[in-house]
Amino acid sequence: MLPEELEEALVQMGQPAFRAKQIFRWFPAGVRSFDEMTNLPKDLRRSLGERFVLTTAQVERKQVSKLDGTIKYLWRLTDGSFVESVVMRYEHGNTVCVSSQVGCAMGCAFCASTIGGKVRNLMPSEILDQVIFSQLDSGLRISNIVMMGIGEPLDNFDNVIRFLKLVNHPDGMNIGMRHISLSTCGLVEKIDKLAGLDLQLTLSVSLHAPDDATRSAIMPVNRACGVDRLLDACRRYFEKTGRRISFEYAMIRDVNDTPEHAALLGDRLAGTNCHVNLIPLNDVPESKLRPSTPETIKRFIAALERRGINVTVRRKLGPDIEASCGQLRRGRMKTQ
Ligand code: SAH
Repeated sequence: MLPEELEEALVQMGQPAFRAKQIFRWFPAGVRSFDEMTNLPKDLRRSLGERFVLTTAQVERKQVSKLDGTIKYLWRLTDGSFVESVVMRYEHGNTVCVSSQVGCAMGCAFCASTIGGKVRNLMPSEILDQVIFSQLDSGLRISNIVMMGIGEPLDNFDNVIRFLKLVNHPDGMNIGMRHISLSTCGLVEKIDKLAGLDLQLTLSVSLHAPDDATRSAIMPVNRACGVDRLLDACRRYFEKTGRRISFEYAMIRDVNDTPEHAALLGDRLAGTNCHVNLIPLNDVPESKLRPSTPETIKRFIAALERRGINVTVRRKLGPDIEASCGQLRRGRMKTQ
């Protein structure tokens, strides 16, 4: 709940309104029970416990990369579900990559998070807990958030928006919208809905192919909508919010990395205010797809640059702990 909602609930309970702010300010401290809210009268703590649920995330497993200090957490949620988050250390600050669902319904052929499908949406507080408890456990101040973990954030729209308001609140974690990226596989209507909210976050779109045949083969979501409609929605998003779209493109050997794909991608994005982030495909043992060679990636970049497209290659962090894109998944601990 946001402070104003808490306030309403408290007033209905016959409590003074100022208690709302006191309670809300305990959340970033990672309290695990109402009893830890020591500036509240004891009987109020008790009645809060009777009326409200305080979610927490417990560290079930923590892996720290020996190569770059990246930390991967497997969290046990209040109902016993598991999700993962990854803390990455960059020069511009520490970033946490959070999950938005337990599993994922989107079925992308290259991604481990979707194996086993979607179990449930995360509640706003369960997404927030990943930020709070990553910061507390790691002792690293989190300044940036990427919604690029398990799940499709726009398939859990209302809860994700509520999470954004919570984490952005000055009395909470106070993380600015410009420090938050949200990644989607491209749910067109939801992109328009998000544009309508005019938030200053960065929208990343997992494009992965410039044509319908290639994209539909690896991303079932494309069969409903197609690349044309997706790119139109992205342009509308930019017009509405003024925020440049970032397109993610996982480089998959002989699938989406040919010179023809590069040329078509360049042509389709030319004149669009955007940025392309190439992701060398990360290994997911269950998938037969293999990463492109470094030479192919180089040629792909050159082809895009010739067409005036802004391109970068995503750095791989935490390779020794399988913390990279597409490698997070529910139930890992059961298989190991
Ligand atoms: N559902 C959202 C959020 C996931 S973000 C989305 O689809 O965007 C994770 C990013 O990693 C997405 O761009 C996803 O397509 C990409 N990804 C998934 N599996 C991958 C893999 N094996 N190698 C590289 N990138 C992968």
